[in-house]
Amino acid sequence: FVCVSPQKEVTEQALASSDRKNTGTSLSPLDGLPFAVKDNLCTKDMATSCSSLMLADFSPEYDSTVVSKLRNAGAIVIGKTNMDEFGMGSHSTTGSRGPVRNPYSPYPSVYSAGGSSGGSAAAVAGNMCFGALGSDTGGSIRLPASYCGVIGFKPSYGLLSRQGLVPYANSLDTVGILARDVSSARLVFDCLNEADPADPSSLGGRSRRKIKHHATGPRSAGNQHRPWNIGVPVDYNVTEISPSLKSAWISTLANLRDLGHNIKAVNMPSTRHAVSSYYIIALAEASSNLAKYDGIQFGPHTATASKPTNGISNSLQLVAATRETGFGKEVRRRILLGNYSLTSEAMENYFIHAQRIRRLVKEDFDGIFSSPNPLSSRTGQSLGSKTGVDFLVSPVSTSPAPSLENVAKEDGVGVGGYINDVFTVPASMAGLPAISVPVHGDGDLPIGLQVTAQYGDEEHLFEVATLIE
Ligand code: GLN
Repeated sequence: FVCVSPQKEVTEQALASSDRKNTGTSLSPLDGLPFAVKDNLCTKDMATSCSSLMLADFSPEYDSTVVSKLRNAGAIVIGKTNMDEFGMGSHSTTGSRGPVRNPYSPYPSVYSAGGSSGGSAAAVAGNMCFGALGSDTGGSIRLPASYCGVIGFKPSYGLLSRQGLVPYANSLDTVGILARDVSSARLVFDCLNEADPADPSSLGGRSRRKIKHHATGPRSAGNQHRPWNIGVPVDYNVTEISPSLKSAWISTLANLRDLGHNIKAVNMPSTRHAVSSYYIIALAEASSNLAKYDGIQFGPHTATASKPTNGISNSLQLVAATRETGFGKEVRRRILLGNYSLTSEAMENYFIHAQRIRRLVKEDFDGIFSSPNPLSSRTGQSLGSKTGVDFLVSPVSTSPAPSLENVAKEDGVGVGGYINDVFTVPASMAGLPAISVPVHGDGDLPIGLQVTAQYGDEEHLFEVATLIE
């Protein structure tokens, strides 16, 4: 936790909730349950820093929509959790608050909790709360969930409101849920899953009805108990996968087959380009989002406040000084890369190309799923693939959590660390729902497998995740 709610408030809320329970007037199944919230979701009673010095003094006057929905359901927000600065990272080590420790760390080593929602995953794994909110742009919920042995769920893009979520890359950002089991994650999702007019990317009522029809229509029409067709993407079977993870993957698939489900190999040829394309799109959007932190419109007036006469004689120098002190190393690196890919010389080769790959990644999914993407412009003509699969089951990461010592060794060495996201970014690029479910590896550390479904099919995604957990 980077900050906690005042004890008096938490106690009062807990007492009020218990009164409601005693009088049979509980507000919801979440009434009285403690929740942790990632520090990039605005909360009116606590600072929201995104683990950045740039927002160290930011205390929003409002709750993000998802937080106010939780509170309206009687849930108690007990504190804000540590993260990578602005969500940029995979180990919760890039923030101004120091790293998050994985509660599973076998003494004396300290292991990565994953990132960027590492604090939320650790809080759930450490039994400090019933559930936690996080955000997932390219894997930031699923990866920490996998490293910390909890459920990490990223919904379809546009289902949970982003209002009050400090953006990293708007076209990829989703709010999601960390919990100890699938049914708890589902309870939280049901509480938050509603159109929000305050978020322009929130899916409206008509599209929601269409999704519901798709998800529950054809399959449940007398068909609900047919075996699932479960896809195994052969392109995900990379040599970097650790032996313990590979055997956990294989034995989970064998269990599903023993339950009567069909396992099919599928091809996702664009996967191999997904990470590079993700890092162009995400960083381009990030560089644009972070441009406003200039120490004049947004961000602290550090440069002027701390060194009023320290050679700053014009606004350009002020902006440079603010950004140099306010942003950490990784964020500055990403702003540079993002800005570069948006320059007129590089635009066609990088940003435009990356957008094309993003479309191919989405088409890969649409080509292998049995149901069509309900939001695809060609819906109606595209009926999904008759021989297709209902879900994909794959690893979340290539190995269990690394030690923080090993993470530090790789820090800043090329862009090799970005490869960690190879299994999680495809669903983000296509806006699909995906969930990380802990399975038994044969080592000491937890590990997760990922289930991915067609857009809007969270209903069945939860069903399959329950079979695996
Ligand atoms: N590790 C990825 C990145 O750094 C994903 C982060 C996220 O989902 N917020 O961009």
